[in-house]
Amino acid sequence: MGLFSRRKTVFVDSDILVIGGGMAGCGATYESRYWGRDLKVVCVEKANIERSGAVAQGLYAINCYMGMQWDENQPEDHVRYARNDLMGLVREDLGYDIARHVDSTVHKFEEWGLPIMKDPETGRYLREGQWQIMIHGESYKPIVAEAARKAATKVYNRIMVTHLLMDKSKTNRVAGAVGFNVRTGDFYVFRSKAVIVSAGGASHIFKPRSVGEGMGRTWYAPWSSASAYALPILAGAKMTQMENRIVLTRFKDGYGPVGAYFLHLKTYTENAYGEEYESKWYDHTKELVGDYIDRHPVPTCLRNHAFLEEVKAGRGPIRMVTKEAFQDPHKETVGWENFLGMTIGQAVVWASQNIDPKHTNPELTTSEPYVMGSHATCSGAWASGPDDYAPSDYQWGYNRMMTIDGLFGAGDTIGGTAHKFSSGSFTEGRIAGKAAVNYVNDLGKEQPAVDETEYNDLKKTIFQPLENYEVGRNEIVAGTVSPSYILPIHGLQRLEKIMDEYVGGIGAHYTVNEPLLTRGLELLDMLKEDLEHLAAEDLHQLQRVWELQHRVLASESVAQHTMFRTETRWPGYYYRADHPKLDDKDWHCFTLSRYDRKTGEWAMEKAPVYHIID
Ligand SMILES: Cc1cc2nc3c(=O)[nH]c(=O)nc-3n(C[C@H](O)[C@H](O)[C@H](O)COP(=O)(O)OP(=O)(O)OC[C@H]3O[C@@H](n4cnc5c(N)ncnc54)[C@H](O)[C@@H]3O)c2cc1C
Repeated sequence: MGLFSRRKTVFVDSDILVIGGGMAGCGATYESRYWGRDLKVVCVEKANIERSGAVAQGLYAINCYMGMQWDENQPEDHVRYARNDLMGLVREDLGYDIARHVDSTVHKFEEWGLPIMKDPETGRYLREGQWQIMIHGESYKPIVAEAARKAATKVYNRIMVTHLLMDKSKTNRVAGAVGFNVRTGDFYVFRSKAVIVSAGGASHIFKPRSVGEGMGRTWYAPWSSASAYALPILAGAKMTQMENRIVLTRFKDGYGPVGAYFLHLKTYTENAYGEEYESKWYDHTKELVGDYIDRHPVPTCLRNHAFLEEVKAGRGPIRMVTKEAFQDPHKETVGWENFLGMTIGQAVVWASQNIDPKHTNPELTTSEPYVMGSHATCSGAWASGPDDYAPSDYQWGYNRMMTIDGLFGAGDTIGGTAHKFSSGSFTEGRIAGKAAVNYVNDLGKEQPAVDETEYNDLKKTIFQPLENYEVGRNEIVAGTVSPSYILPIHGLQRLEKIMDEYVGGIGAHYTVNEPLLTRGLELLDMLKEDLEHLAAEDLHQLQRVWELQHRVLASESVAQHTMFRTETRWPGYYYRADHPKLDDKDWHCFTLSRYDRKTGEWAMEKAPVYHIID
């Protein structure tokens, strides 16, 4: 017990606790202060909000901007677009709510110093596509973080949150969170009246294409470790659409983005023999999904589907035709700058592989699957909608409150709302922040309180891997191998292999069936048993332990949802080989799950999809 009693415990009290200071967390912190002038608003982040989250290295475009001031698009248009891209299934109330507020967010970014490119003729923001505007965005995150820093009562950097704390008298009410400082090892108990989870998406739950020395190279941020899902899941919050993992078509080996290439440079793809291939798969795809293939724009997953089929037919690799566009010096500059502001690694990969896109058409590939709620996909927590717009089935409390009292979410955390991207995630954070302030103000004397036994037990659980290492290292047989513990990297690789082979990763051509999923779930169960023996050599490894714990729980949720939805709704993202077609009759609905941490059981149900916009 000595190890735990010596460790310092720091108590932090707040009215609103924001977990994760990425785009959504910065939005939540900023807006909580705006509406809650006298409230104590605390933001806790496992890295440093200055450069944390998926926008850490900058972006070249803001992908969600309506342009209502110039009547370019209306919020309804964006809902139609997202609904179409997600094969009919989005929370239209939540999407509309973001779309109607997102322009004001972007205007704030500009006011705070973000350089947004302008069309020299019209003076409007320079469009890359219908929804995207182009920015000089290398410093996007520091600019946004500054606003959050000024708004917060205090930002706690370098603290990894591991568990939420529940109210000791009301079981379905949140009361705070616990975590540890990844530099000092201090244990933190955050007591708060409301909690907003904005901890990003999940990479590294499926085996990545880059392994070994390249395993840190993934499309979504490698540090997006599924806390956004595991924290609410463990607390018993309902989740939605967790089967809706995303697969990205990207430049090979560097995961360089293709959006600016397609939309702005007007480059296009061809197979290894220089042929257009998407139209070849039209009849085949129509067989699977009906007239979703006739929608404009063609849904992202269906474009992946044509790519995958063409490669399976032996006519890969698929290439992006850059040679034509790059003859124009302006387009050539834009093509390179696109990477320099966002994915510098792609430029380095091309240089190292002798690829000059002016002379060589670079290869594309499809990524391993990721789980997130803000891109062309919408996995996440099931949340209450805006009171002026959400149907009654989608409303049980405050806007963006999960099925747990006082627990809010935003960005990748919240399910059902695809295509919010960086600006939409910040906007959703603002929406959640405002609602959380209302919740806190309405609490009156009914304040939540944490249970001392609960956080003391968690303290022991959180630091146990350090003790496992202290004891187990005496039995090391070779190198770092000990019969009595597993290291986080071993657990991670085992998880990625299970997910890859049984839950639809690259190794299985994104294909699953019931027997595969059943076995995958059994193997995940065995992995969970072994996680009790995780060992951490130092605080860095302790962080890896808890990231792995979060990834495993989120993965289990993905597998359970994939098993439940007996159709192939998004070919190109994944295939249920035993139910190969889209089935609108039985599955034009959301899937919901609730995890019971006492029994380890998952309760699954369907929820209706309401089409509010015609
Ligand atoms: C490669 C790439 C390209 C993209 N391109 C674009 C683009 O061109 N345009 C665009 O608009 N959007 C783009 N996006 C999308 C955009 O980055 C995301 O939509 C947005 O960042 C999601 O916001 P978020 O707050 O949910 O997550 P994040 O911004 O990732 O923030 C999550 C935060 O939570 C922290 N955290 C995680 N776990 C914990 C924990 N347990 N305890 C404490 N803190 C924790 C993380 O460190 C991080 O700071 C891109 C994303 C990627 C990865």
